[in-house]
Amino acid sequence: MTNSAGTRSTRRAAIYCRISQDRGGAGLGVARQEADCRALCARVGWDVVAVYLDNDVSAYSGAPRPKWQELLTDIRRGEIDAIAVWHVDRLTRSPRELEDVIDLADRQGIELATVSGEIDLATPTGRMVARMLGAAARHEAEHKAERQTRQRRQAAEAGRIAGGGKRPFGYEDDRLTIRESEAEVIREGVRRVLANESLASISRDWHTRGIVSPAGKPWKAHGLRRLLASARISGRREHTPSDSWEGTRPLLGEIVADAVWPAIVSHEDSDRVRRILADPTRRERVEGTTRRSYLLSGVLRCGKPREDGKTCGWRMNGRPRSGVPRYVCPNTPGTDACAGTATNAERTDGHVRDMVLAALESPAFVERLRSQDNGGRELYDEIRTDEEELEELARDIGERRISRKEWMIARQPIEERLERNRGKLAKVSRVAVLLGFVGTFEDMQARWKRMNISQRRAIITACVRSIEVRPANPRKRWDPDRFVFDWVA
Ligand SMILES: [Zn+2]
Repeated sequence: MTNSAGTRSTRRAAIYCRISQDRGGAGLGVARQEADCRALCARVGWDVVAVYLDNDVSAYSGAPRPKWQELLTDIRRGEIDAIAVWHVDRLTRSPRELEDVIDLADRQGIELATVSGEIDLATPTGRMVARMLGAAARHEAEHKAERQTRQRRQAAEAGRIAGGGKRPFGYEDDRLTIRESEAEVIREGVRRVLANESLASISRDWHTRGIVSPAGKPWKAHGLRRLLASARISGRREHTPSDSWEGTRPLLGEIVADAVWPAIVSHEDSDRVRRILADPTRRERVEGTTRRSYLLSGVLRCGKPREDGKTCGWRMNGRPRSGVPRYVCPNTPGTDACAGTATNAERTDGHVRDMVLAALESPAFVERLRSQDNGGRELYDEIRTDEEELEELARDIGERRISRKEWMIARQPIEERLERNRGKLAKVSRVAVLLGFVGTFEDMQARWKRMNISQRRAIITACVRSIEVRPANPRKRWDPDRFVFDWVA
């Protein structure tokens, strides 16, 4: 008689080990788990055929356990007859998972042995013990999760940063001490954003200067945006409840506390930069497309007269012809752009630069700019006043000094004004860009040469709203009179 395949003298055992942080170590290093399990298998006469190891994950957290899945698959394939683990809590931490194991044990006749005490899943008593042990482990895991949530919440309210991860840029590892070299760079970044420079331009500059993130990576526009829009750099804690969004975390959270760590930039500057960076229209106005290599794209307007007596008015874009860069009224189907105006880009850029520098050389012009634009100071004050008033109203209704209806009526005009002013605040800050730039014509020319296209654009748009380009006079090769400047001041 041949031995049938079903009769086996020894059980093929799998050892399952899991390293987790949830038992405070407790001497449960993986080597210890495996050695104990091997000894156990030897004692009960099982043949160890495989060791499955999941590293540093908590079953309760829902993190995937790839080796655990592999083990289940191998059991279903009939390759494993028994499992050895150190404790039931290594195996599974949710009743669901435990029931799966019990189910498998039933169907496949799997035996389970634990170093901390054998459990026979084939008997009702054994299952009950397993469930109890599993429940105890689950209680421990849930309790830990609850404790962590509570600690994070407390930390958020107390103004401490949530733990974990790399140190924030601008601060030391303790997250409390300012790293001055980086703080200076942050302040510079804030100034440049307030001056309407693009994030792409700033990050390129940082890259050439070797400024890197705490992870040692070069700054890109996206990361820079998060850095400069964070309330953290103004010493404040913001909180974004994780159930309030899906996908990408919103740029701005709710500011919940004046934090216990020191500020690198003022609340005022932080608020302005946050507004500016969150402004959806900024992307096009300031960042442009990645292909923006034309200084005056969007600044120039087509000035060709139409039949109704008005001018075309479309924003002109850069487009080369025969390799010569030009600005043209676009030939875009579906629009009423006339596509009838074009101008040589190089000569136009030079002309506009000279006109702007000449204007800036005039103290009267700069004075007019300054008097018109105080960097949004008044707007800022108005916004703060309105915000305080809303808080006051909220307290009033909270303490039942006013009715809900009165509250709704009182709050509406304030909220509308706030919305308007916040939008405006994001757009003002013309003079900031000119600080350190204005000087004699020759000085400014020298500075201009060192600037990149984004910085030059910022200077131009601080001075002019738009420039109309009239149709070319066919008898003139270059005609500066075609350009009509709409000066800001
Ligand atoms: Zn046109």
